[in-house]
Amino acid sequence: MRASWVEAALIFSGAVVGWYTTRRWRISGAQAAPRAPTSDYLAGLNYLVNEQPDRAVEAFLRAVAADSDTVETHFALGALFRRRGEVDRAIRIHQNLIGRAELTPSYREQASYALAKDYLGAGLYDRAEKLLLELSTAGSYRMAALRDLTQVYELEHDWARAIEVHRELARVANPPQPLAIAHYWCELAQAALIAGDYPQARTHLQAAHSEQKRFARGALLRADLAIVLGDTELALKLLRQVAVQQPAVAGEVWPRLLRALKTAGRIEELSSILLELAQSGQVVADALAHAAILTTEIDSPQLQKLVREYVSREPMIGELVAAFLPEGGEIDVGVLKRLCVAMRRQAQRAPRFRCSECGFSSTSFFWQCPGCKSWDGFKPLSPSELLAPANRAPRS
Ligand SMILES: [Zn+2]
Repeated sequence: MRASWVEAALIFSGAVVGWYTTRRWRISGAQAAPRAPTSDYLAGLNYLVNEQPDRAVEAFLRAVAADSDTVETHFALGALFRRRGEVDRAIRIHQNLIGRAELTPSYREQASYALAKDYLGAGLYDRAEKLLLELSTAGSYRMAALRDLTQVYELEHDWARAIEVHRELARVANPPQPLAIAHYWCELAQAALIAGDYPQARTHLQAAHSEQKRFARGALLRADLAIVLGDTELALKLLRQVAVQQPAVAGEVWPRLLRALKTAGRIEELSSILLELAQSGQVVADALAHAAILTTEIDSPQLQKLVREYVSREPMIGELVAAFLPEGGEIDVGVLKRLCVAMRRQAQRAPRFRCSECGFSSTSFFWQCPGCKSWDGFKPLSPSELLAPANRAPRS
């Protein structure tokens, strides 16, 4: 909250500078003479800089009451109301501006964009989309409108349109966003898989693959498709690749690995696959052990070995368990299983994933962070972090 006010203060400090250099214009700009700022307007800016938003609103309201014809004060008030969550008031101010026939084209464009942001803030996505589509065709708000449109389509799960807008952005100037587009294709593929339309799912997954190589989510969905189509070898190959290349998503690999083997009646191969994967690196072995602890009964001896080695190295858990063992002793299977049950219970009660971009934590895994909307940022918490909620970042 504090950060947003600091941001607002910076924006309006910029507005002050701009004002003094260009002077203030009335709504009917073309015919009007430049005017000096009112004391209330300056007082409002001063309150903003000093992070006193309530007093800033009061000052801007006085400025508008004294002179309802100035554009800047309306924009300042509208932006303030939106930031305070008073979106209805912001909408009324910007609608009022747009309704004035004498408004200059550039101010009209600015007011339309501000109103679109109000609608976004109010969750009125269809109205925001309509305004943003108009602004996205040309003009100084084109790029901003296109970026906001991707947000609207993501929120509406309209993945096909999100892909179109991303491509339009890349054509205009922005760097291409292959990761986001690949995730949109995966969303479409997942929907096709759920609907049982396997040819369509395959087409979408090929499109995802052409956008992004070594892409965990695409490979996992291709494994899902291979499992339902009975191609166990392909599923196991894809899952092995993801486990080795991107250990952070082992939690997504593990249940699929079990499903592929159980569906094919080949669960006895689990131990040899685990051994092979563990030999590819400590990080891979630990990630699989971690995923297994939180989702599975650890009955396989190979799995017990992985889990035992993993928890023994965990800073807090390893030391605690070692304190109860005789010198050089090893955690027996009974203790190991009870430890796993305790961690599973804790994982069900508290967040067990955290976004590496913004710190948002959750009990569920997300490909796109609900907090900051970044892709592929969710990482599992370690057992020590799971059992030490006091050290955890607050859930957003
Ligand atoms: Zn985030």
